[in-house]
Amino acid sequence: MRVAIIGAGIVGLATAHALLDRGHEVVLIEPGGKQGRPTDGNAGWIAHTDVMPLASPKAWRNLPRWLMDPLGPLTIRPGYLPHLAPWLVRFLLASSPSRIKASIGAIRAINAEALPAWKSLLSSLDLSGHLRENGILSVWRHQSDFNRSRDIFERQRSFGIEVEALSPAALAELEPALHNVEAAVLYPDACHVSDPAVLAADLLRLALERRAIPVTAHATRIEPTDGAVRVHTDGSGPPVVADQIVIAAGIWSRVLAAQLGDRIPLDTERGYNATYPKGTLEIGRPIMFEGEGFVTTPLDTGDRVGGAVEFAGLEAPPNHSRTDAMVQRLTRFLPHLQSEPAAKRWMGFRPSIPDSLPVIGPAGRDWRVIYAFGHGHYGLTQAAITSRLVADLVERKSVGIDLKPFATQRF
Ligand SMILES: Cc1cc2nc3c(=O)[nH]c(=O)nc-3n(C[C@H](O)[C@H](O)[C@H](O)COP(=O)(O)OP(=O)(O)OC[C@H]3O[C@@H](n4cnc5c(N)ncnc54)[C@H](O)[C@@H]3O)c2cc1C
Repeated sequence: MRVAIIGAGIVGLATAHALLDRGHEVVLIEPGGKQGRPTDGNAGWIAHTDVMPLASPKAWRNLPRWLMDPLGPLTIRPGYLPHLAPWLVRFLLASSPSRIKASIGAIRAINAEALPAWKSLLSSLDLSGHLRENGILSVWRHQSDFNRSRDIFERQRSFGIEVEALSPAALAELEPALHNVEAAVLYPDACHVSDPAVLAADLLRLALERRAIPVTAHATRIEPTDGAVRVHTDGSGPPVVADQIVIAAGIWSRVLAAQLGDRIPLDTERGYNATYPKGTLEIGRPIMFEGEGFVTTPLDTGDRVGGAVEFAGLEAPPNHSRTDAMVQRLTRFLPHLQSEPAAKRWMGFRPSIPDSLPVIGPAGRDWRVIYAFGHGHYGLTQAAITSRLVADLVERKSVGIDLKPFATQRF
């Protein structure tokens, strides 16, 4: 079969390999050089141990404090509020106990397969060297906040996820540079990648070596016809004609899905980061600073602090006072950072759906178009398992996971 994939971010690239593995001809439509594509600047976590949707009690607990602070972990630019209103309404609806429970079940179903899928993809391409299996830490500034999170650990343990509570001595031995932390847990099975941009570049190089056909252009219009599906582009070549299309264009998928009659509540949670020279943060593994809205990762190419959620759409310029505020808050935990020179700063567009579940499934009106977007905070984590599900859908095979919670029809 000839399959055209729109978007060669991490989800599109993993999908290209899943389809090439099964002997399909793959066309990769990708303009290249898109500013702020999250594939390149994310924190590099394979966070398969996470089970909570964004619309969780944890978020609601922190929300009032966050919204009071214009440079805090979560902001909505006032001018963007009218555009965001429908998304926010769905976010509210996704926060009922029954909906949260359903989201947790669906997140767990996909995340349970996420790391095995990555390991199998990376090993088949001889890229296993990208995985760093040092575990991931969550730390709390106040014991009282940690105590309120205990139900999350219980839930994780009930799913078979290992969660190790650390004594202050054990934490000091593991991460001696950390200060002002009253409680910590280690997820020994969580891991990260060497550098997400380098991983994506390797996946692209290998896809092309495996004879994926590159089309360097934006897909502008999808035209289903009786025989095949045509993808019109802004390039100089003729439309791409394929038996099947996969839309994996992150936040930019919304417009393409709308053309096909699917109004998906996809918006962007803009995220920020700062990357220091390798070794600056003096940390041995990724760390989640609970309640602060940022994480740190020792990537091979530099030490990154990243996070924040800003609702301001695709057009507003980055507000790097947000990055600076994040770094400032990090100095509470890593005081030596105060004397470090400024880091490289970045802003990117998480493609987010209010119930924290991606859209994986056929377009509402045409099974020949498969959607694979909206992975929000977990697009790297879930890319490999998504690619396997998409390949099954393309081949009309039954998939091992209940895809109803991920379907377009849920909106
Ligand atoms: C600060 C931050 C930290 C994060 N940390 C993590 C993390 O640690 N772990 C994790 O799992 N996730 C993390 N994420 C989320 C993750 O990065 C995203 O979910 C993921 O990158 C989405 O990948 P994607 O391939 O769907 O989309 P994208 O990365 O947006 O890629 C989409 C691609 O489509 C292309 N495209 C766009 N329009 C068109 C068009 N019309 N035609 C053809 N191509 C098009 C773009 O050029 C781009 O290459 C983080 C995100 C941010 C912002």
